[in-house]
Formats: sequence, C-alpha cells, structure tokens
Amino acid sequence: PWRCLSSSFKAADIQIELSKRPGKKPDPSKLEFGKLFTDHMLTVDWNEERGWGKPHIKPFQNLSLHPASSALHYSVELFEGMKAFRGEDSKIRLFRPMLNMERMLRTALRSSLPSFDKAELLECIRKLVEVDQDWVPHSTDASLYIRPTFIGTEPTLGVHKPGHALLYVITGPVGPYFSTGSFNPVSLFADPRFVRSWLGGVGDCKMGGNYGPTIFVQSEAAKEGCQQVLWLYGEDHQLTEVGTMNIFLYWINELGEKELLTPPLNGTILPGVTRQSLLDLAKKWGEFQVSERGIIMSDFIRGLQENRVKEMFGAGTACVVCPVNRILYMKQNYHVPTMENGPDLAKRFLKELSDIQYGRTASDWTHLV
Ligand code: PMP
Repeated sequence: PWRCLSSSFKAADIQIELSKRPGKKPDPSKLEFGKLFTDHMLTVDWNEERGWGKPHIKPFQNLSLHPASSALHYSVELFEGMKAFRGEDSKIRLFRPMLNMERMLRTALRSSLPSFDKAELLECIRKLVEVDQDWVPHSTDASLYIRPTFIGTEPTLGVHKPGHALLYVITGPVGPYFSTGSFNPVSLFADPRFVRSWLGGVGDCKMGGNYGPTIFVQSEAAKEGCQQVLWLYGEDHQLTEVGTMNIFLYWINELGEKELLTPPLNGTILPGVTRQSLLDLAKKWGEFQVSERGIIMSDFIRGLQENRVKEMFGAGTACVVCPVNRILYMKQNYHVPTMENGPDLAKRFLKELSDIQYGRTASDWTHLV
C-alpha cells in the first residue's frame, strides 16, 4: 500500500528524557577543544521503510552500530561545526545557524543521505542547547561548540544509497582560540604534492572523508616546523584554504588597489560561515576592493617581495580569524608581515564578529536560544 513518508522530522515531536546524573560544569579558562561533552544529545533515526522517526533529546551516551554500517566502511557521513555564545545579558545566541543548516543539507544530499527540513533541525538544536543551557560558559571568551553529525547506518556492505541513517547532535563547552586580546600567528606548510580537494570532488562539502586524510599532512607540516597546512591546487599552485579555515589576503593588488581577497566558491572551497560574514562586513564598509578570486603562489610572492602584502589570515568558527606570519614553500621560508601591520583588519573583524556573537551589537545574524 502507498504510504506517505514524512519528508522531515518535526521539532514539535521531540521526546525529552533528562539525565539523572548531570556532569560538573568546568572552569571556562581550562577548556580544551572537543574533549568535554554536555549531559544530553539529540538523535533522530531514519530508514527507508518508515522515513524519519521522532527527534529524541536524551542523556549523552554511546551509539550501538551494526559493524557493516556504511559510515564506517564508505565514509557515508558528514558533520557541521557551530557555536552558541552567552552574552553579558546572559542570553544565549547562535550565529547565522541557518548557513550551517544549508551546508549540512547540501552535504547530506551529496552523501546520499536523506533530506530534512533545515528549520526543523535548527529548532531541535535550539531546544538541545536550551536543555543544556547551564553548559554554555558564563564567559565572553568561551562558547558551546555544537557538532551536528549525520551517518549512514545501512547494515549491508554494498556500496549503495543507505536505507538506514542516524542524525545526531552533540555539544561541549570550548575555550577561546586565542587568550584574550593576543593573537598568536601561525606558520604554514605549503607543499603542492598534497591536495585537499579538487574540481569535481567534494571539497565544498563537510564530509568526514575530506578530513581524515589531512591529519597525515598536518603531521608533515609539524615535522617541518609549521603549525598548519596551506592547501595548494593545480599546476599554478593556487592558494585555497589554511588547515580547516578559509584563507584571506589583504594587500595592494597588481593594479595598486587595496583589496581583500579570498578564493571563489568553485567547488574546491568549503563555503565557511565566517568567510561569508567577513565578505559581507567588508562589502558593507566599502573601504576597499572585496574580491572572490583565485590567487597563485607566484603572484602572492611577488606581492610579498614588493611589500604589498598587509595581512594574511585564516577564517573559521574556531578562531574567527587566525593571522599567518610565515609560509614554507619549495624549501624556502617567506615571512608574511601580518603582525607588523596590526593586524588591523584581522582585529577589526574579530571585534565586529564577537560583538555580534556576544550580543554587544544587535544583529539579525544571531538566533536566540
Ligand atoms: N574550510 C574548511 C575545510 C573547514 O573545515 C572549515 C570549518 N567548517 C572552514 C573552512 C571554516 O568554515 P566556518 O567559518 O563555517 O567554520
């Protein structure tokens, strides 16, 4: 018989089971990224016979998975990364969370995972943060990291579209990337032998399969005395991303114009929420050229040699902006004078975004919990 499978779970159907053993809240100054989790998690089951089940908020617990689960064998899985911030007014805000929901849905469809309603998932996440609200640090340096995850749980070994899947969300308090006020610049290892993403691939999706293989390259960078990887692409060594951040260059371009530049979303670049926000802010200010265009190493190095480079930084949820002071490329070290230049623009971006995130500046980019 024909049955109508629900095309999404609904936040109104959430079933809540509260934890009987709430954990001790940490000192916000002693948090390490990703090590501590809150009392609850959100789970929603899907299978092709019944469609979506009801969302559950339940005590944080291990998953039980069939050993053939497609997430474990073929990396049919994805994740998101976003934060909730507690302002001085004690209100908790999410930052442009719909952009994360859109990226997640796009990645789900590319992963052959089922579709869902973005607004319903956002409301489930809001509810989860509300249930664990005491875990959102009472600090305008720290925040609650939110990790939506979606995995194929198909219990058979064929490489095909999963008939079973599990969407879940875990969260945990995290400290500031930089201790207050001081930026620590990072050095980059740029080696064209390693490629993160390619045209026609899935570098613009937040799938686990894009991340596991980068850990080895990160270790190579560390061996060479560098902190992060500058990902290059193509014969002409285009700059694409820094570690797990989008890359920004603030310089005087070949035409003598002040320009903020980041590579375009051509399919090899993860469309960062921070990237979009920096572009939106800079365009609103209207004080310099704002370009989404590619840049190759030789043009960048010429800019360095001609003293036209002002700042280079990564941009992402973890740090907002992360200044770059050195690049190791083809066995040669290049000093990047980001810190010598303030970094005025990076600091301004950090202040503008954190003022919005912590509610010091009113903005429709925030979503109240
Ligand atoms: N690039 C990559 C490869 C990433 O994993 C991330 C983190 N999601 C970013 C850029 C930055 O994205 P966002 O600003 O949304 O954190």
